[in-house]
Amino acid sequence: MAAKRIVLFGAPGAGKGTQAQWLCDALDLAHLSTGDMLRAAVANKTGIGLKAKSFMEGGKLVPDDIVVGVVVEAIAHSAKTTPSGYALDGFPRTLPQAEALREMLAKRNENINLVVLINTPEQLILDRLTQRRSCSDPKCGAVYNLKSKPPRNEGVCDVCGNPVVQRTDDKPETIKTRLQAYRRETEPLVGYYKKACVLVDIPGDGSVYEVAGRILEAVAKLGH
Ligand SMILES: [Zn+2]
Repeated sequence: MAAKRIVLFGAPGAGKGTQAQWLCDALDLAHLSTGDMLRAAVANKTGIGLKAKSFMEGGKLVPDDIVVGVVVEAIAHSAKTTPSGYALDGFPRTLPQAEALREMLAKRNENINLVVLINTPEQLILDRLTQRRSCSDPKCGAVYNLKSKPPRNEGVCDVCGNPVVQRTDDKPETIKTRLQAYRRETEPLVGYYKKACVLVDIPGDGSVYEVAGRILEAVAKLGH
């Protein structure tokens, strides 16, 4: 069948990154996560990557037009390396980004054919996020969970050996703020994609395997 162009979204801590990785491994899709795409653009020193770099080094949020530019590059590149398709993870995050994505895909005569909402109870999200730890080296970006995926040596990154820390983002006092931002900025995407009839609502409770099974089932119905 034609290429699969999938968007995964859900509240912070909904397990979106893990599920995107699973899905891409299972179906041979390119996993396009915003963090990875930005890191790759910076590493490859593309024009847009250099612009992004100045914001990332200052610890600032990268502006929408730059993020969109990075995603355009990544999608064009993945069409050559992985013609079976891709799953976007962490993008779009806002309605203007969703609209920008629609426009840039229209130029390629493409559209998103499935949007997966991982719908997770808020208490479960709070529990998961407070267990999350990250590599302190932003170039590495490895993520751990004290319960389900602890580093082999306590406090040390398996990948690069740098210290593993709790990001300010994952501290309980900031989690509530992040969930509020999600509800305000990202949740409107539910209505946006429902209107386009491409949204599936996947319950995010249960094990990683159970959620992955539900997503695979939804993807299997594509094109039927
Ligand atoms: Zn690391």
